[in-house]
Amino acid sequence: MEFSVENRNGEDQKKTDLPDADRAALIQAALEARNGAYVPYSHYAVGAALLTDAGEMITGCNIENASYGATNCAERTAFFKAVSRGIRGFQAIAIAGGMEGEAPADYAFPCGICRQVMREFCRDDFQILVVKSTEDYQEYRLDELLPFGFGGESIR
Ligand code: ZN
Repeated sequence: MEFSVENRNGEDQKKTDLPDADRAALIQAALEARNGAYVPYSHYAVGAALLTDAGEMITGCNIENASYGATNCAERTAFFKAVSRGIRGFQAIAIAGGMEGEAPADYAFPCGICRQVMREFCRDDFQILVVKSTEDYQEYRLDELLPFGFGGESIR
């Protein structure tokens, strides 16, 4: 494995090629995207900001449903918005989650379904930032969070 644990200890977070300005803007956009969350049941508001290869940021929030099962995560909201516009190349996503009206108390990691959606459209080195604030975040590669991933090449 080429990954170290250094990116998790807060001292070597900026290990990627993502420019500092992009990273800060992406984190801020994810935090602000929480304001759109529709979460009448869990009151757990998640925002995501997706950075395309062209440098555009596309945000998403979680959208709950009375059936629970029809709930959509913030990450997939952002991906589906982008894909529906024909965008297929992505660099990074920032994700921020916490109780509605409160700053994130912990890192919100993407669920398994969202990791699989990322696997469909992203390279192994796609960056996933789980954030509490612009100063407090952790950064991972997709193939760290979804090792041995299953993709379209597996069924051709
Ligand atoms: Zn999810």
